Amino acid sequence: MSEKQTIINLVAPGRLHNEGFVSKGHVCGYCRGKGWFYGPPNKDETVICPDCGGTGEVMAVVTVEWKPAMKEEGT
Ligand SMILES: [Zn+2]
Repeated sequence: MSEKQTIINLVAPGRLHNEGFVSKGHVCGYCRGKGWFYGPPNKDETVICPDCGGTGEVMAVVTVEWKPAMKEEGT
């Protein structure tokens, strides 16, 4: 099974603010990309995957919160 790998290079911004990254195109791990399941309640009917909403893909939203560094004393 292959995995998609995304690397975020952390570089301090000029002024501190939160940064957001979106990584799309990940195969839904719940339905494995199908987007639906058979039942319940009826095994003959299909229901849309609640995790991906039937798209078969999910996206990751990564938020980076920048803060002043805490200086540790006595170490
Ligand atoms: Zn799904």
